[in-house]
Amino acid sequence: MMRRAGLLVWHAHQLAASMAKPGVTTGEIDAAIEGFFRRHNAVPLFKGVAGKVPFPAVTCTSINEEVVHGIPGRRKLLEGDILSLDTGCKLDGWCGDAAVTLAIGKVRPDVQRLLDVTKGTLDLAIELMRQCTYWSQVAAGMEAYVKQSGFTVVEAFVGHGIGREMHEDPQVPNFVSDQLRRGGDFRLVPGLVIAVEPMVNMGTKRVRTRPDHWTQVTSDGLPSAHFEHTIAMTDSGPYVLTAAPNEQESQGI
Ligand code: MG
Repeated sequence: MMRRAGLLVWHAHQLAASMAKPGVTTGEIDAAIEGFFRRHNAVPLFKGVAGKVPFPAVTCTSINEEVVHGIPGRRKLLEGDILSLDTGCKLDGWCGDAAVTLAIGKVRPDVQRLLDVTKGTLDLAIELMRQCTYWSQVAAGMEAYVKQSGFTVVEAFVGHGIGREMHEDPQVPNFVSDQLRRGGDFRLVPGLVIAVEPMVNMGTKRVRTRPDHWTQVTSDGLPSAHFEHTIAMTDSGPYVLTAAPNEQESQGI
């Protein structure tokens, strides 16, 4: 059931990627994904999420120095921008949540490296989930990889358990947090489903909130990237629920 939700989120991301070109607004991409979820009888998870003001859209669109939780609108994408596109839906009562950071046209080599390292951090986490017993071991590997690449891991936001609700226990930090050290660690056992979502900054790890109450930006204005998958632990290892369809599934939608 969660794979079906995850597959729909993957398809929504393909739609976003096909639209993400210079001159297109983030609001246009958001509207297309809202229509896509509606056509498939899926409930968007982000719209109405509680905050100082309820989140107003079905995607978070975060450009350049925006880390996460950017609000789609009239802003046009420009050549050289990077766009973190985060979205999720509930299908028949089960949730899927994923994010990718897209290069708009050609980006600077150092920015491309930020995208590659952040995607690499998520790929490493999936590989470590196969090998490790505890999440803290995975988090330590992610943190070390980012550090040796010369970038920083955002600590103000973390991944999460996911199932019938988008945000469930446990918290899933992308670094070895105090919480992990003080009893918040968990075992990677079959049945666990978590959204793993490294956020990696080119400069400082520190972030601040824009006056819109949602958009998180880096304190130094340098770019940030974000990748996320919903991942289930099974008897045969991690199963990426928001991954591309396999051969049988690709006949489906
Ligand atoms: Mg998430």
